[in-house]
Amino acid sequence: MSSGRTRAPLGEEDPHDRKVLTARPPPRSPVPRPKRDARALYASVAGLPIISPHGHTDPSWFADNQPFPDPARLFIVPDHYVHRMLYSQGIRLEDLGVPRLDGGVIETDPRAIWRRFAANFHLFRGTPSWMWLNHAFAEVFGLAERLSADTADAAYDRIAECLERPEFWPRALFERFNIEALTTTESALDDLRHHRKMRESGWRGRVLTAFRPDAVVDPAFPGFVGNLAELGRIADQDVSTFAGYLQALATRRAYFKSVGCTSTDHGHPTARTADLSPVDAEALYARVKGGAASAADAELFRAQMLTEMAGMSLADGLVMQIHSGSFRDHNPAVAKLFGRDKGCDIPTATDYVGALKPLLDRFGNEPGLTVIVFTLDETTYSRELAPLAGHYPALKLGPPWWFYDSPEGMRRYREDVIETAGFYNTVGFNDDTRAFLSIPARHDMSRRVDCGYLARLVAEHRLDADEAFEVAHDLAYGLAKSAYRL
Ligand SMILES: [Zn+2]
Repeated sequence: MSSGRTRAPLGEEDPHDRKVLTARPPPRSPVPRPKRDARALYASVAGLPIISPHGHTDPSWFADNQPFPDPARLFIVPDHYVHRMLYSQGIRLEDLGVPRLDGGVIETDPRAIWRRFAANFHLFRGTPSWMWLNHAFAEVFGLAERLSADTADAAYDRIAECLERPEFWPRALFERFNIEALTTTESALDDLRHHRKMRESGWRGRVLTAFRPDAVVDPAFPGFVGNLAELGRIADQDVSTFAGYLQALATRRAYFKSVGCTSTDHGHPTARTADLSPVDAEALYARVKGGAASAADAELFRAQMLTEMAGMSLADGLVMQIHSGSFRDHNPAVAKLFGRDKGCDIPTATDYVGALKPLLDRFGNEPGLTVIVFTLDETTYSRELAPLAGHYPALKLGPPWWFYDSPEGMRRYREDVIETAGFYNTVGFNDDTRAFLSIPARHDMSRRVDCGYLARLVAEHRLDADEAFEVAHDLAYGLAKSAYRL
């Protein structure tokens, strides 16, 4: 854009382009074959039910089925994708209504928050947030105008008016989105009251929990020592020994399973695993349970616990998910004022080949075990993760995750992974979102990108058309359902 001349808006004639236009008339040929194939593949999966086997929506929404409060607290206040982009352009989180841990002054007027967001909506151009948000505005609320400072109030009024109507309450949207199964994530210490309430209510929507034990297996987790005491209390188990502690975890897993849980979720900074002797494990536990663990002890304990959890998964059938490669709370000033999940988690380089070896040495050859690995380090897809998942029966590769559940991220993932791992060592798509209204958009995007990729394979004679239809169905629906035992 250095020529300095003014560009005509799209669709209007630019005199500087006339020569080019008349010299080469637009092609009148039919839609090219891969594009037609991609459309046909997409048409075959677009209406499939959504399986959302990993995410962070709030189970109280579906248990209580109360209206969402207002457009700002629906779209802006809880969404760290929104926070990070606006913060990067100098907008204070206080001005977006994000609560401060110290109770300091923040914007409380939802319309003011919304106006600020709308006036800066152009910042999301080219990002998946732009697509997810626009999809929800148009598909859920029927907004026809692009969001901007000029359209902010009309959009706010329309959304606020919709939110009061029962057809926009959580359970109705769940049904309208055609969600067959949705998994939330709860701490090992959670009493699962919302999930129990849902089950007892007779509502037919399938919302499941996932068992997330970070608070009681990570010595660096805030309040770890107190969390251990709480674990012992609610599991009615003496946790002063390592054996007692493991038994308490097994008890909690059984409780989660009794409320419908099919998976566990482990958000460790690295993928390191360990397989210590019982004597060494007991000695390590004795060091960490007192709260004085060194950083090295904490890392070794997390590593040992991943292997212990894999052993428990083999016994109780819960599918195990390991997320690593996120440098959490990279910005200490934001973390101190606002707490976790405020948009300052950053991908970091992650080793898998060496890190997972102790766990795989012990359990990697078990076909009855499913360990799903996610990564935020894209460089490991082709070098480490696809070869590992393409060999070990226990290992499967999760979808392009978090920063990479974008059109380009999804394309790169397919290109890096499939040639080595095949489609059937992957587990379909998951949205990993806390933004409920973005779920249809995210799954739709994944279906479109996958169909584009499959159409290319067909065009290049690397896959037959009937196989492509089968794979499209598996990627959109079947793989997630079977991998997560839903
Ligand atoms: Zn997650």
